Amino acid sequence: MSEDSDDRARWAELFDIALPPIERDQATRRRGLFSRLKDNLTKPRQAISPQLAGIFAPGLITRETWDDLEEALIAADCGMDAAVALVEELRAEAQLGRIVNRDEIASGLTKAVTRQMTPEPPRIPIGADPTVILVVGVNGSGKTTSVGKLAYRLSELGQQVVIGAADTFRAAAIDQLAIWADRSGAQLVRQGPGADPGAVAFDAVASGTARGADVVLIDTAGRLQTQHNLMEELRKVHAVVGKANPDAPHETLLVLDATTGQNGLSQARLFGAAVPLTGVIVTKLDGSAKGGIAVAINRELGIPVKLVGVGEKLEDLQPFDAAAYAEAIFSPTPTG
Ligand code: GDP
Repeated sequence: MSEDSDDRARWAELFDIALPPIERDQATRRRGLFSRLKDNLTKPRQAISPQLAGIFAPGLITRETWDDLEEALIAADCGMDAAVALVEELRAEAQLGRIVNRDEIASGLTKAVTRQMTPEPPRIPIGADPTVILVVGVNGSGKTTSVGKLAYRLSELGQQVVIGAADTFRAAAIDQLAIWADRSGAQLVRQGPGADPGAVAFDAVASGTARGADVVLIDTAGRLQTQHNLMEELRKVHAVVGKANPDAPHETLLVLDATTGQNGLSQARLFGAAVPLTGVIVTKLDGSAKGGIAVAINRELGIPVKLVGVGEKLEDLQPFDAAAYAEAIFSPTPTG
């Protein structure tokens, strides 16, 4: 089995699409994903590993150990809340005698991070006729490329896809989607630059329904003159999609650029107040982001991370795997 078929299996699992049984078990797939993640997450890991290496050095656990760990987790962008909760959890384990030495904190930490996030693989079930996925986020976060990559992955799995180019403020976004639609055999619903985004979203859902498509992916604008305008526009697009199909959107995914750190979280709250979010796509984890940001997103927004972007290539957008991620960021061996 190749990495490609592992990828295929992971995407099928995300979308709840049945594939013929494959030979590799989940543990083997996870190891493959882990080594790839580890390669791509060198920078975030390097940002935290010197501090962690000091904490995990063999020796007795003291009060200072826990303080240092909390500080390291906050410095890694996990957010105060998650850092405190993680340390409390590990401390409780130490009190029960499950963690005795400092070098045992390492594996405890990756397990605690996994538990705190989503130990179960995330899902974006495809099944409604069609399943409508709205993708929102600020400009430059990676929305348009994420829509393109999702279209490609879905088509690979035999799904008929319609893409709605509702970011009508950026001609470049429409052109980019046209290229992805071409690559993946998806149908693109577009109007000219400056057209009403709600009208494009409505047309996309109507067209997907009329054609019997499986999935409608809708890209949205990320910048208007004011934040207020942007949120109003999003509310409108969300409501219009619901008029075209009362159950839609089935998913509303927020795309967050990991390098924006805690500012990204404030942004996320604004989006969440405007439209009900069902998941987050964290992009640019390969850049100068600190690795803890995905933990903070999950904890502070209460929304699962469903996909992560660790580069610009097609295969760099992947269904999120909390265990592989926790190990890639918080494992004690700095290999990068
Ligand atoms: P949008 O304005 O939100 O639609 O953003 P785009 O999809 O146009 O993406 C902005 C830029 O970010 C593009 O150059 C993408 O290739 C790049 N990008 C998206 N995701 C990632 C990622 O995970 N890692 C890196 N390094 N670049 C990314």
